[in-house]
Amino acid sequence: MAASHVFPRNCHAPLPVATSGEGCFLIDATGKRYFDGSGGAAVSCLGHSNQRVTDAIKAQLDQLAFAHTGFFTSDPAEALADFLIARAPGDLDRVYLVSGGSEATEAAIKLARQYHVERGEPQRRHLIARRQSYHGNTLGALAAGGNAWRRAQFAPLLTDMHHIAPCYEYAERAEGETLEAYGQRTADELEETIQRLGPDTVMAFIAEPVVGATLGAVPAVPGYFKRIREICDRHGVLLILDEVMCGMGRTGHLFACDADGVAPDILCIAKGLGAGYQPIGAMLASRRIYDTIADGSGFFQHGHTYVGHPVAAAAGLAVLQEMADHDLVARVNRMGQSVMQEGLTRHFGQHPHVGDIRGRGFFWGVELVADRASKTPFDPALGVAGKLKRAAMDEGLICYPMAGTRDGQQGDHVLLAPPFIATEDELEMAFAALSRALDRVL
Ligand code: PLP
Repeated sequence: MAASHVFPRNCHAPLPVATSGEGCFLIDATGKRYFDGSGGAAVSCLGHSNQRVTDAIKAQLDQLAFAHTGFFTSDPAEALADFLIARAPGDLDRVYLVSGGSEATEAAIKLARQYHVERGEPQRRHLIARRQSYHGNTLGALAAGGNAWRRAQFAPLLTDMHHIAPCYEYAERAEGETLEAYGQRTADELEETIQRLGPDTVMAFIAEPVVGATLGAVPAVPGYFKRIREICDRHGVLLILDEVMCGMGRTGHLFACDADGVAPDILCIAKGLGAGYQPIGAMLASRRIYDTIADGSGFFQHGHTYVGHPVAAAAGLAVLQEMADHDLVARVNRMGQSVMQEGLTRHFGQHPHVGDIRGRGFFWGVELVADRASKTPFDPALGVAGKLKRAAMDEGLICYPMAGTRDGQQGDHVLLAPPFIATEDELEMAFAALSRALDRVL
């Protein structure tokens, strides 16, 4: 192969060339087929050859490729916003379309700040997030994230943020503590942090309803987010939910927070919204927040060239219509336990190096440990998750790995987030491939 001029993610790991996609499979230049068991990074929820979405993109391109949102709105952007708001929780009322997840969380952080400034509380400047979280790679989003490894070398560029414990029952619930008591105790860290910083200085709290990349499909325990909502309301702190990875049907609900019975003030989505067909994300804001800006300066001081892109919006709308017409979110909900949990438990439940299997819908994490009884993680220097990723690819399976961190905050895991159209046979084949890969690595 000729020398590549692409700047890769990992300069030491040459990659196969993907040449086509077919249903749940990706095919490389040698003809090898890979079952996309993680949708890349929980992106490809409709698989790789959905005709409706590609037709919608082509039709939109023929009609209108681009119109800058400083000058125009467009039919697909309006229709996508209508579709989302008709189904969104709480009083989410406005949709700000962007090109991906980091842009969505970045916009959310800035909107939270501007909201408080415009309502006469400019002293509200603190953002609270959770440790071992990830909200994107742009500087604001990275600052919000609590993943020590991702932050380390950029720390001098990051605004000071405040981090509380994640709701990570497997690792952090005390012996004998009920799920409910653990959830309340963990949520109460938010109250304590708000009190410590001064309640009228805190602008927002950001969290993922089901933690994706950093912890590996970890849902909060029952009652946790209700308590978080109460604490935010008590102190005038905005609740931002980051559903970039877990939203858009991935967990068996169109919006992941529906399972927790809470509605945020600002909600971020991406990945599954474009399903990989177009780069798109969105920030949904409550009526109260929108009205504050509209009745104030009237101008959200933010924006990128490609916000509200008509072709991306047409793709997003087609993705959601396809999910609705084929009842795919209900399918994911149904098969989450009966196929995903059952299959993973059958294959890995007794494995001496599988510490935990958790998730919702088509979003599951398998945590790998050196010792099951003590839950001791592997030494990160062993690179277990990375080895498993490569072994799984050899077996024709894409799964999303996350290495343990050197500070021991978290162990290795792999994430499974297959397309919503995956058949039971395909999923069974994926579990078997992962099992073979695991046998080769551990
Ligand atoms: N937020 C969460 C929860 C994510 O998982 C990700 C990406 O993995 C992001 C934000 C950033 O999204 P993007 O990579 O599209 O910028």
